[in-house]
Amino acid sequence: MSLVVQKFGGTSVADPEKIKNVVDRVLRFVGQGHQVVVVLSAMAGETNRFVDLASRMQKIPDPREMDVLLASGEQVTVSLFAMGVKARGGKAGSLLGDQVRITTDAGHTKARIREIDPGRIMALLAAGNVVVVAGFQGVTENGDLTTLGRGGSDTTAVALASVIGADVCEIFTDVDGVFTTDPNVCASAKKIDRITYDEMLELASLGAKVLDIRSVGIAKKYGIPIHVRSTFTDNDGTWVVREDGEMESRMVSGVTYSKNEARITVSRVPDTPGVASRIFTPISDAGIVVDMIIQNARAGDMTDMTFTVPRTDYDRAMEIVAEVAADIGAGKVGSSTNIAKVSIVGVGMRNHAGVASTAFRVLSDEGINIRMISTSEIKVSCVIEEKYTELAVRTLHDAFGLGDEAQPVEEDWG
Ligand code: ADP
Ligand code: ASP
Ligand code: MG
Repeated sequence: MSLVVQKFGGTSVADPEKIKNVVDRVLRFVGQGHQVVVVLSAMAGETNRFVDLASRMQKIPDPREMDVLLASGEQVTVSLFAMGVKARGGKAGSLLGDQVRITTDAGHTKARIREIDPGRIMALLAAGNVVVVAGFQGVTENGDLTTLGRGGSDTTAVALASVIGADVCEIFTDVDGVFTTDPNVCASAKKIDRITYDEMLELASLGAKVLDIRSVGIAKKYGIPIHVRSTFTDNDGTWVVREDGEMESRMVSGVTYSKNEARITVSRVPDTPGVASRIFTPISDAGIVVDMIIQNARAGDMTDMTFTVPRTDYDRAMEIVAEVAADIGAGKVGSSTNIAKVSIVGVGMRNHAGVASTAFRVLSDEGINIRMISTSEIKVSCVIEEKYTELAVRTLHDAFGLGDEAQPVEEDWG
């Protein structure tokens, strides 16, 4: 008998029929003698619908109220799921984040889990229930509802798996596993059978939304194996696990993209010590993570400062930057939300020259203009116009042979 957390994403529970299918799947597994904690997302599209509703009420929605709204989607699916189990004659109990007591900090809309009380879950399991926990939500010490950031149900699932000592955390989704790039964008994407936590962290941090990055961080810390697989088949998916010898030789994990990007340029910033801190401190104080930063010198002790922020934080960042720009006597603040970031990632890149130049060349061959570049020893990222995202992903994926049967493991790409 094993103890397993099974998380089902929005498309897996998109309507009552799909929820019934998932109920049957879980009950089959329980019938084999296993104990299961199910973690559910909201029905597909619901969270986006809430975001849209909120934006019609307030330009920058109040974060505390936003969380009250966002948390409601998962409340619907866990209750329906528990009803579905009972309709089949099974035993189930649904729990919201505050009923479990998933305590978080007060960082509304991107709260971090502080503590999870396993008591109630374990008691329900011991009494023979399928325990059905609402993903993505928690509660502060003061009893305010919080959410963990988009895609956060994965994080709920892995965090629960660690506190209850589960053998594995299974992430059921609408694709067969983790691929070399988004299989919905690139038909030649290949499923990866095993991937290390570190490689998965890179892919997730650069946009592969199949797993929330924080879930991978927790899995790595507590050594929880994650199995990403399809809700709609019984096929083996992708195992996200610790590194083993066989994996070390892999050069590239994949190609990722993120459309959750916005570019802000503050022009004619006085080029004096301390201005970067004047601009970026209030942004980070607001909990906004700046990604790429480029500073361009201009004539006359002036500089232009260009950087990217998550598009979801764009309005707030613009408000802050407009204020700071006025304070420091800078010029115009320009911006664009029609950008995307495409990246090639892989630990094996460390030992290979020419990866970046190949990427730049193949993008330019397609007439795609690169607006910003950032590299590290394990990734190359380019900011481009959003409309070229899919073309850029396919171009890079094919240029690096990721769809081929034999991956270019030890070869030099030149
Ligand atoms: P869920 O609702 O089940 O949490 P998500 O939409 O969050 O599902 O994540 C699954 C989606 O992630 C897939 O449908 C796919 O389009 C996208 N995706 C992006 N990059 C990858 C990748 N490298 N491998 C697999 N899927 C990816
Ligand atoms: N429903 C939330 C979202 O759409 C959380 C999740 O699905 O993981 O972001
Ligand atoms: Mg998801």
